[in-house]
Amino acid sequence: MATTKSRLSLGFSRRQLLIWISFLLLSGLAVIAITFYASYAQKQLDADYIAFSSEIVRAQHDGEALRQSSLNLLDHPQPLHQRQLLQALWMIHSRQMTIEQYLQRSKLTAHDTQHILEEFTHLDSLLQQADAIAPDVLEDTSQLSSLHDLTEDIDNSLAYIYSELHTLMIRGATEQQHIMSVMTQIIIALGILVLVVILGLLVAIEKILGQQHELEHLSITDELTGLENRRAAMNRAKHILTLAKRSGDSVSLAIIDIDHFKRINDRYGHPFGDQVIKQLALQLKTMARESDVLARIGGEEFCLLMPNTNPDGASELCERLLGSIRAIIITHEENSVPLTVSIGVTTTHHQDDYDFDVLYAHADAALYRAKAGGRDQLESFVPSTRG
Ligand code: GH3
Ligand code: MG
Ligand code: MG
Repeated sequence: MATTKSRLSLGFSRRQLLIWISFLLLSGLAVIAITFYASYAQKQLDADYIAFSSEIVRAQHDGEALRQSSLNLLDHPQPLHQRQLLQALWMIHSRQMTIEQYLQRSKLTAHDTQHILEEFTHLDSLLQQADAIAPDVLEDTSQLSSLHDLTEDIDNSLAYIYSELHTLMIRGATEQQHIMSVMTQIIIALGILVLVVILGLLVAIEKILGQQHELEHLSITDELTGLENRRAAMNRAKHILTLAKRSGDSVSLAIIDIDHFKRINDRYGHPFGDQVIKQLALQLKTMARESDVLARIGGEEFCLLMPNTNPDGASELCERLLGSIRAIIITHEENSVPLTVSIGVTTTHHQDDYDFDVLYAHADAALYRAKAGGRDQLESFVPSTRG
């Protein structure tokens, strides 16, 4: 009742179910954590910091060019220097737009870029002021110095923006490196996990196959003696008898039963009786041929199926068995325990005899006569005269 209760309808025990639920929960958490990290990592890795950085490096010359052209214009207010200044302003404009686009496309957070975008707005207004003055500065040279001041402010603003961007780029690239190393570690850990799971499965399969093999072996083996059991003997006998019936070969069957075994048990105890059974089994094994089927078919009863053996051959072997068993020396606390068996033997005579049950019945009848005749002897089944 207790086992039925602790087993659920799917055949899982409570403990197994708990282990499975914990395993699934942990796996679920691991999948969620890895998914979050992977999406964050993808954002970071998507950012093209190399292209961005090279744009920043190029942009750093723009401020210098503006400042230089503004100085030239201040010293020599000529159209050439005015054109250079206008060109420098235009260059800064277009570069600013490119960098702003990069910034928007980059996966950097608003928190990271907020102060830079604000500085861009400030730069925009400076550029607009410069754009307003620069085209007419040659006509109104009093504006030259304020234009120069503006170009200095623009240069400072650019320097601030580029230095901040540079810091961001370095931080981003470092983060990318860190992510790559964490991803590598995750991949290695997953690889190890897969290997462990495969190894575990292989061990489990190996164990199941081993257990299956052992079960098969146990199902055909007698536990006490290691001989075949009744079921295995019957299966093999069936096969042997079918073949022999076709070829017309004789098959003999002997049933060997320990005499007065009950007395041995009663006198020396059941465990000692077991040892006697084991010892007898060993003796029978050494005397049986490779092709014979030797099995323990009852408590103290054995059968020996002898393929290709006629009545004379079977009787001769059984007589030798009787003698060798008589000669076994068994002692219990220095007292010798006599051991004898009675044997009933039979051989196929008619076509109907090629059946284990028929042979067994004949051998059993002969055994009965051996017991009745005083035990420690062999009796052969005498077939009727039909056929
Ligand atoms: P008989 O000469 O007529 O065969 O007499 P017996 O005492 O050998 O035969 P009986 O059938 O009266 O008793 C057989 C005994 O064998 C009874 C049972 O307790 C014992 N026995 C059966 N299986 C085992 C076993 O595995 N181990 C031991 N120790 N005893 C067993
Ligand atoms: Mg007996
Ligand atoms: Mg018996």
